[in-house]
Amino acid sequence: MAITDKIYLRDHRRIVSQLETRIPKRVFAGATLDVIFNGERFDQLDDATRDCLLGFSRDFMDCGCEGAPFCGHPEEAFIMYLLELRADGYTPEEIVDVMGAEYRLSAYPGDVLTFLDDAVRGLEAIESLAGVEGNSTMRERAQRHRADLVSGR
Ligand SMILES: [Zn+2]
Repeated sequence: MAITDKIYLRDHRRIVSQLETRIPKRVFAGATLDVIFNGERFDQLDDATRDCLLGFSRDFMDCGCEGAPFCGHPEEAFIMYLLELRADGYTPEEIVDVMGAEYRLSAYPGDVLTFLDDAVRGLEAIESLAGVEGNSTMRERAQRHRADLVSGR
């Protein structure tokens, strides 16, 4: 399962009760994305909750695709967000704290750690493949990204 399938709305119960709509706790579930993207019944939310959901929508769903928010870009943008936090030196626990403070999202630090390890292994695979193919530019890029991800660990 992708890391984006393991990101949850921290205030799920309150959101469901204020919106009077049953949506899954997973923020990247289709029905949840749909409600956030359309801002459906957002006038029923308290200000802080509404601001968080609008922030999420603005930061991860503004790709402008006709098929948004089901085009894959929100997931991609969120994965970039996680990788950038890691590159800034945040631990998995701190990354979970940051997403909680910024978007009231939650995740298990262990899931974030697994995701980061997989990302590092993916970059290692790109590095060795690029090495075999003699693509030194790609190899160096992968190396640099991997160095960013493992720093501070
Ligand atoms: Zn898109």
